[in-house]
Amino acid sequence: MSTPQPPHDPPVNGQGEVALKTSRTKLTERDAAAADAAEQSPLAAMIVRFDQAADLLELEPGVRRILREPEMQLAVAVPVMRDSGEMDVFTGYRVQHNTARGPGKGGIRYDLHVSMDEVTALAAWMTWKCAVVDVPFGGAKGGILCDPTGMSQGELERLTRSYVRGLGDVIGPDKDVPAPDVNTNAQVMAWVMDAYSKQIGHTVTSVVTGKPIELGGSLGRGDATGRGVMLASREALDHIGLPVVGATVAVQGFGNVGSAAARLLQAEGCRIVAIADRTGAIFDAAGFDTQDATAWVRKHGTLAEYPRGDRLTDEEFLALEVDLLVPAALEGVLTRDNAATVRARVVCEGANGPTTPGADDILDANGILVVPDILANAGGVTVSYFEWVQNRAAYMWSEDIVNDRLREIMTRGFHSVLGQAEKHGVSMRTAAYMLSIGRVAAVHKLRGVYA
Ligand code: NAD
Repeated sequence: MSTPQPPHDPPVNGQGEVALKTSRTKLTERDAAAADAAEQSPLAAMIVRFDQAADLLELEPGVRRILREPEMQLAVAVPVMRDSGEMDVFTGYRVQHNTARGPGKGGIRYDLHVSMDEVTALAAWMTWKCAVVDVPFGGAKGGILCDPTGMSQGELERLTRSYVRGLGDVIGPDKDVPAPDVNTNAQVMAWVMDAYSKQIGHTVTSVVTGKPIELGGSLGRGDATGRGVMLASREALDHIGLPVVGATVAVQGFGNVGSAAARLLQAEGCRIVAIADRTGAIFDAAGFDTQDATAWVRKHGTLAEYPRGDRLTDEEFLALEVDLLVPAALEGVLTRDNAATVRARVVCEGANGPTTPGADDILDANGILVVPDILANAGGVTVSYFEWVQNRAAYMWSEDIVNDRLREIMTRGFHSVLGQAEKHGVSMRTAAYMLSIGRVAAVHKLRGVYA
């Protein structure tokens, strides 16, 4: 266990210089344009990782071509009557990357960064994520390019219903099953379920997961992604010989994933010394009371006015000397420009795509264990799978059963990836891609789709 340093210390890493040199050598060996693109675009980053793993697997070229491309990309106009009586038209997306192992599965995001590029990368990550933890789903994702923070509940409901109308029969319990993601929640999922059910003439709870409990949601789904992050972090700390009790932790993002991960890690005995959201970061060497911070955010919306801790810049936050750093906000946070400043022993990716390929090289060279997103945040889709199973069986499991089965799947997933990494002498990220791509490729071969 390391002691957290005051935030204003300059970042010191004995191997930082060496790491940068190693990384630069690797980057010049790669196609420099592709490396630059991978720093900027989540889709280009996904393709770099896919190609690395596919090369190592010596993937048959036909299967490789299939898995590199999404099966379906849809963009729809989403007309919405504003409260003012004016009509606005937004753009909505749904991408199914691969459905060979089962129905597409993936969240719906409402955000100003939503684009076809982003949604396609996120859909592919869902394919790999479901395969890593071996749940019988493919990968999909959706989103609407909008700023939901300025919308009333009525506008959000009309936006959601209009989007579902636009998707038509693209979604369905055996085809493509949405869930919440950034800026969507259980209420939005209830509207999706209702709009779809009205469209086909009867109630279908299993069309969507992350629903309110009263509508067939699963106990434990709210915390599931954060719980999965906690479980993966616990295994990772244990693997490198750091005690979980007393481990120091910085969590970026204090929404659904970050706040639950922080709370559950604290319950395991960790000290949460830094937390951050879109309004900035705060540090307290004695550790935050995460229940209190969560209650504050529930009431005030953000950590902006939270009266505890010292303010940090984003750069200072990422450079903290902690045992565990949990990026649980956005894509592209750890890049080749700042990765050398990271002093955490373990990075456990709660967010999707928080680390660019250029940053991976630097973190690896500096001996930082990175638990990749497609494994670390798979707790959400795992309990979504449980919810879908419960809906189809019309039977509800207790929260203890959900949490026990989640622990079993996350722990098994972690050790399968670690075993693969050790066997091939690669990072956990490359190992996770190898494992998942291998599983999806095997299904394509068995089904004969590529023949
Ligand atoms: P959320 O909207 O509930 O929370 C996002 C948090 O990130 C907020 O606290 C926000 O203030 C913060 N944030 C935004 N911009 C920031 C910035 N520039 N710096 C620091 N913090 C910033 O979203 P969420 O559901 O918690 O999702 C977070 C990430 O986890 C996303 O990448 C999402 O795709 C991924 N994820 C979510 C789930 C899930 O079940 N919700 C599952 C798997 C992966």
